[in-house]
Amino acid sequence: MADNRDKATDQMKTWKANRGSQKPDVLTTGGGHPVGDKLNLQTAGPRGPLLVQDVVFTDEMAHFDRERIPERVVHAKGAGAFGYFEVTHDITRYCKAKVFEHVGKTTPIAIRFSTVAGESGSADTVRDPRGFAVKFYTEDGNWDLTGNNTPIFFIRDAMLFPSFIHSQKRNPQTHMKDPDMVWDFWSLRPESLHQVSFLFSDRGLPDGHRHMNGYGSHTFKLVNADGERVYCKFHYKTDQGIKNLTVEEADRLAAANPDYGIADLFNAIANGNYPSWTFYIQVMTFEQAEKFRFNPFDLTKVWSHKEYPLIPVGKLVLNRNPVNYFAEVEQLAFDPSNMPPGIEPSPDKMLQGRLFSYPDTHRHRLGANYLQIPVNCPFRARVANYQRDGPMCMHDNQAQHLFFTPFQQNCGAPNYYPNSFSAPETQPQFMESKFQVSADVARYNSSDEDNVTQVRTFYTQVLNEEERQRLCQNMAGSLKGAQLFIQKRMVENLKAVHPDYGNRVETLLKKYNAEAKKDAALHVYSRPGAAAIAASSKM
Ligand code: NDP
Repeated sequence: MADNRDKATDQMKTWKANRGSQKPDVLTTGGGHPVGDKLNLQTAGPRGPLLVQDVVFTDEMAHFDRERIPERVVHAKGAGAFGYFEVTHDITRYCKAKVFEHVGKTTPIAIRFSTVAGESGSADTVRDPRGFAVKFYTEDGNWDLTGNNTPIFFIRDAMLFPSFIHSQKRNPQTHMKDPDMVWDFWSLRPESLHQVSFLFSDRGLPDGHRHMNGYGSHTFKLVNADGERVYCKFHYKTDQGIKNLTVEEADRLAAANPDYGIADLFNAIANGNYPSWTFYIQVMTFEQAEKFRFNPFDLTKVWSHKEYPLIPVGKLVLNRNPVNYFAEVEQLAFDPSNMPPGIEPSPDKMLQGRLFSYPDTHRHRLGANYLQIPVNCPFRARVANYQRDGPMCMHDNQAQHLFFTPFQQNCGAPNYYPNSFSAPETQPQFMESKFQVSADVARYNSSDEDNVTQVRTFYTQVLNEEERQRLCQNMAGSLKGAQLFIQKRMVENLKAVHPDYGNRVETLLKKYNAEAKKDAALHVYSRPGAAAIAASSKM
């Protein structure tokens, strides 16, 4: 046997070693009944048929038939781990949330990293944004920061979200990723230019999950103990340093080790090499937001570090692997509407859309009582409300004890409000902060709200010459799969960012299109760059 196996590969061996000389447990059915034979069906005669009374078989088979729940429509492939958040700097002048209560305070956390468009079995090393969602188990209920590894997103209006995701996933007829769909949508919605440029830059292929930053991306509102409010963005920067894969490495890994990201995270934690991120906020006052030169709630734009410097807050540390992937990661449900007192939404239209869409998805995937699943349960808060029953109800009618204690006290709380029986009451100090809205109700078109200035800064000032070259090659390598009119439209959008950007991609496309013509003449057909977000990162 090879000695060079990693901790993830050796999981079974470790389990056995940990049992020492302990004898195997008695095998049982799901109902706990001891089983005498688990290898042979109960049949009438040695050749069958099978008897319906073989409940050892039906118990196992029926459960097996139900082992999967609906895959997440987005972020289906993921890795998760657990740890803590520690406050290193006081920000109580901005925020009263208990998670930031004092320097040195720690709060348990769960983090899930993911790709976006691939299915649950897809490769970890594809070109795709990465989900980076953090759940803080606070005493005032859970706080979920459903972030990404980029501070921005493709769209700024949640009305477009289902169409955007459709365009990145499979064509409903061919069941294939479709470069026309991908690039048609992006080229028709130039607000995507900033995120598309990040995606095709080196950071579009992060080396596992430990070597990338996370961003809450949306603008939120922080409220302090005196009721004063500011707007805020969250950043969590990797302490491991940014590390990206080359296109060639990513391709090789997609074939050789499609679970590269999961394995890397599992092994780092199993080896005691706990990954961490330094947590920062950016803060903008209401007055600054009012006068700001662009909409500060626009998810396709960042707040400049120079104008709104990063303020250090704490550290995220991961030090425990999941015990059961399905229970603790597949069922781990993040929801931006999970906000404890002190943290509130801004008017960001994408955030407002997600406040509805995330919990709606969880009720569909996991059921109405998904918050009773241990990994989602706000276990550090005492849940006291008027919700009852529903599928998979595990509650003891709000007694806050486990079942099995007959006639326990306080297990018969009323399920309606108001009531006269001393059941849970509201407390005014937990009221959300007030804010004024006075505007005409309409469907406001936001498509031409300066889609290029920050992309230009990114292209000309953040990237160096080699990075620019790679960005253009990666992009043209994918865009060449789309029809000519879509390619042209995209090139025009890039030229609006900067002529050099558009010209370089145009030149590369001409070369690739000529090569494709030659291949076609030789009857060599391919689907190059089937999508930016595809099973292979080969561009
Ligand atoms: P800064 O020079 O202060 O910030 C530039 C930031 O760009 C860096 O801090 C780093 O963010 C990020 N960065 C560096 N290399 C890359 C890369 N290859 N791909 C993606 N991001 C990279 O200037 P500004 O704050 O004024 O921002 C200028 C531009 O930088 C923006 O228009 C935006 O395109 C980009 N940017 C800005 C961020 C922000 O929150 N202000 C965050 C990320 C990018 P980090 O330290 O987070 O890794």
